[in-house]
Amino acid sequence: MKNHYILFPLMIVVSLVLLHQVVQRSLVTQQPKATTDPDSQMVDFLQRYIRINTAHPHPDYKGASSFLMREARKDGFTAQEITLSSGYPVVIITYEGNDPSLPSIALNHHMDVVPATNIQDWITPPFAAEIRDGSIIGRGTQDMKGIGVVQYHALKALKDAGLRPRRTVHLLAVPEEEVGGFKGTKLLVQTEAFKKLNIGTVIDEGVASDDEKQLLIKLTERRPIQIEVTARGQLAHGSHLACQNAAHDLIEFLESLVKLHKHSQLTAKKFHPGMLPSYNVTSLAAGSTATLNVVPACATATVDIRVPPGMSLQEVKDYLDENMKVYPDIKYAIKAIATEESILGLEESSLYKKLEEVCHKHGMTVAPHHFEASSDLRFYHALGIEGVGLTPFTCKENLHGTNESVPIKNLIQGRDILLDFLKSQ
Ligand SMILES: [Zn+2]
Repeated sequence: MKNHYILFPLMIVVSLVLLHQVVQRSLVTQQPKATTDPDSQMVDFLQRYIRINTAHPHPDYKGASSFLMREARKDGFTAQEITLSSGYPVVIITYEGNDPSLPSIALNHHMDVVPATNIQDWITPPFAAEIRDGSIIGRGTQDMKGIGVVQYHALKALKDAGLRPRRTVHLLAVPEEEVGGFKGTKLLVQTEAFKKLNIGTVIDEGVASDDEKQLLIKLTERRPIQIEVTARGQLAHGSHLACQNAAHDLIEFLESLVKLHKHSQLTAKKFHPGMLPSYNVTSLAAGSTATLNVVPACATATVDIRVPPGMSLQEVKDYLDENMKVYPDIKYAIKAIATEESILGLEESSLYKKLEEVCHKHGMTVAPHHFEASSDLRFYHALGIEGVGLTPFTCKENLHGTNESVPIKNLIQGRDILLDFLKSQ
């Protein structure tokens, strides 16, 4: 009996120690473990990037650039952050090639996104980056954090495989693209830090093809000239036949632009719309509906003109100036203009051919694309740097839309396509 008195408390102590160890072990196994699977790492990276809210008008650039710097250094890349004269940061992540004297390759993406409006129609919160039915949903998944993350993970896969291309590769994360790039890439390309990168080739954002088997390679962009036209005339009674009606003069003047626009529309059956000029009247204002018998003294309109490659900005300005001579009381003011002259990207270029070859290897076809709008690519083209826009994954195109999303399997395929391209450089 005496022995039992000693054994009993001893058994309780031993049991408690064992129980403690079991609980500790189960707690440890419940801790989220950092995954080593490259596909899961890429998905996790994109989710964390989307959750940093870089939507205008108050993009968290500091959060985005710190995130990219931290990840790049952890993964063993050389990374630098430079501050532009606008005060915004640019992150440059570098993987040096075997021959650093060769012109380098830049994989460019913008960190900023457009705001997520229409919140009630999103099936998940736009900055939660949740996964539904195999797709990541969130603002920026397509435009263009998803592309940036695919670019980063193609470069990481190259490095992790111990492969080094001949040419140095830089990943550029830039601000302000969604508001014209004037305080972003436009300033970046003027810096000494940029010149030192010796960039010969740029791959920037493209557009999704809406076709599971095809990628579009963006070769050209159009440049905007947005003008405000003002006509001045006589304030007069609505019954007067002989008065100078500002609204009439404006309509006549605009008619010449509308004719040019319609001509492009007809020609668009033969040519890609991105290769033709467009002249969209975007606002019209004259007089008042309060009284219907007053001829207005002033009439205004705004016109959004898009200038294709092969046509100079000066040509458009000359046309406007010539037309103004017929209407001495009409003046126009340029409200916004992309001053860069563009270069004509070609399907015959070795860059296009190489991308085509790589895509074929992955069972995909490619098609040339001539973008109707413009992106940061124009700043690189203006310097004579060869460059294309490539969204390396297919998805249902939903740029700036509600429930913007990208299928995970397509992200993985996109990374593998870019990886093969980088291997060939
Ligand atoms: Zn974009």
